[in-house]
Amino acid sequence: MIPLAQPVIGPEEEAAVLEVLRSGQLSLGPRVPEFERRFAQRVGAAHAAAVSSGTTGLHLALRAVGVSDGDEVVTSPFSFVASANVAAYERAKPVFADIDPRTLNLDPEAAAAAVTDRTSASLPVHIFGFPADLPAFERLGLPIVEDACEALGAVHADGTPVGGRGHPAVFGFYANKQLTTGEGGLVAMGDAAMKERIDSERNQGRAPDMGWLDHDRLGFNYRLSDIACAVGLAQLDRLDGMLADRARVAGWYREALADLERERGLQLPCPDDGDLRGWFVFVVQVPHDGPARDEVVVALRERGVQSKPYLPAIHLMSYYRETWGYREGMFPVCEDVAARSLALPFFPSMTQDQVQCVTDALGQVLEVASSAHGGAPSRT
Ligand SMILES: *Cc1c(COP(=O)(O)O)cnc(C)c1O
Repeated sequence: MIPLAQPVIGPEEEAAVLEVLRSGQLSLGPRVPEFERRFAQRVGAAHAAAVSSGTTGLHLALRAVGVSDGDEVVTSPFSFVASANVAAYERAKPVFADIDPRTLNLDPEAAAAAVTDRTSASLPVHIFGFPADLPAFERLGLPIVEDACEALGAVHADGTPVGGRGHPAVFGFYANKQLTTGEGGLVAMGDAAMKERIDSERNQGRAPDMGWLDHDRLGFNYRLSDIACAVGLAQLDRLDGMLADRARVAGWYREALADLERERGLQLPCPDDGDLRGWFVFVVQVPHDGPARDEVVVALRERGVQSKPYLPAIHLMSYYRETWGYREGMFPVCEDVAARSLALPFFPSMTQDQVQCVTDALGQVLEVASSAHGGAPSRT
């Protein structure tokens, strides 16, 4: 079976973890600020706060830009569910707008049309590592929180790395991301006061000059341990290599899938055009006139290839229908893409042979189906 994702972990990560374990300081130690400093430098941000996950980073970032009870946050329905959930954590309404069919990112014009006098922030997502059109969101004049959880290594057309524009930009370090700490996240930002607030709220609301068990505001335990930060530091050392490996695998896929793109209408990730993608996943859209996406997943599995519907539309999930009144038909571009998008195996150590195996399997599944006039794929 060719897996969907696989982290790169070596003796450097093992040694870094052992060193922390033997030091006796497992949390609130020196690895946390060291990791923050090096990560901030990497994405061109003045400050960074390490947190326990991408989700908790998004939560603290939304609080830091002032989102509260009864507000609205404009965001993308085509994302991992966390980017919308965090608004609800603060009793604000996640307000969706449709996506751009080429980049699959939140469409800035649709977002502008969804702004009301209760909108207190926009939350664009750099989906699949492709930079969102930040200059257009900046023109809305609202505070911005960037979901950069899939976008480490991405660069905007003007040369700014994603995460380096001064807005709080949140990265995630789950095991399938470009850089992993097992679980983890980080908020990159330009504002020193925001860094101080996030540092405090991730640690139960304790100010930097306060003693142990002394807390002057509502806070959480959203800390990241020194063990995790040590893994993150080792991963930063190998980041350039891992990003280059991902880009190379994406190039192999593009070449290998060119025939299916031309002859069968398979849709590939949009190419860079000034903006540079930080490769996270390789997601294709199956053609409208072929077998259903879920049938393709089953047929690929029978051929030894893991794949996954990626991503489901958030507004059609039960919680969003029942609590916020969303329905089919509200965001047609997102719904069409979500019904046809499929993540293929994609990780830095993937070989060209494995890419060819995936391509051959996908070709068989789509061909067999097309010669059967769109019927179910053969199960030979
Ligand atoms: C991974 C991810 C997150 C954060 O996930 P955690 O599991 O909380 O680290 C948020 N948004 C997007 C788009 C993601 O891909």
